Amino acid sequence: MIKDLKGIKAVTALILSLLFTLIGRASIGQQLNAAFKFRTIVIDAGHGGKDPGAHGAYSLEKNVALAIAKKVELLIQNSMPGVNVIMTRTTDKFIPLKRRSEIANENQANLFVSIHCNSSPEGTASHSNKERGVMLLVYGFHRKEEQMEALRENSSIYIEKDYQKNYDGYSESDPTSLIVLNTFMQKYRKQSILFGETLNDEFVNSDGRKSRGVKEQGVLVLAHSAMPAVLIETGYINNPTEEKYLNSEAGQEAIAASIVRALKIYRRQVESRQ
Ligand SMILES: [Zn+2]
Repeated sequence: MIKDLKGIKAVTALILSLLFTLIGRASIGQQLNAAFKFRTIVIDAGHGGKDPGAHGAYSLEKNVALAIAKKVELLIQNSMPGVNVIMTRTTDKFIPLKRRSEIANENQANLFVSIHCNSSPEGTASHSNKERGVMLLVYGFHRKEEQMEALRENSSIYIEKDYQKNYDGYSESDPTSLIVLNTFMQKYRKQSILFGETLNDEFVNSDGRKSRGVKEQGVLVLAHSAMPAVLIETGYINNPTEEKYLNSEAGQEAIAASIVRALKIYRRQVESRQ
């Protein structure tokens, strides 16, 4: 009887100590979450080198994207102390799409922002090059007919030497084939959309830009990022008015300032939510 009581006491003690260990771990976990800091952002200037991207009457997407990316870098360094900004390229250099997300993953970035220009198909309609405005892309489910921007941005891979090896399973006729590979998609989808919507508000409300909003498409450069990721189509380079804006100091500065304002809002939101 006494022996049994001892046994019960021992089991109870064991259960209690296990419980305390678990509760202790949980509270440490909470403390870690509470201390979450937005530390690292990757700014990706689209295209580069032998991949010019879209072109306007006198300018190339790769150069506009790099100019805006550099302005964003400088603004973050000057106005967001404690945030480390990493550029995927700072010169006119070709970088495979997959390498861009690798850079973000290796640096454990909290956000991946890819900067691009849009381009409407030319010659299909008399007003086609009058298309204008910004557009934000996040990686996600999509209908094939809404894949236009993704297919154009994904075409960079065909310039890569080993694209068939690097993008195994990707097929232009079936862009949904890649979706299943991305385990991070659901996890980071909400935060990607949150940053996209925040940035969309800045473009529309502060800069008076027209916007096509936040769209989910199978964009390869976002597919392998283990963090929230947004691709910004900053405007239509083949629209004469927007080409001028995209190439002007004032236009580039306005775009960069909107991106950084959105970053600050987003940072506050994710840091307080954790
Ligand atoms: Zn592009």
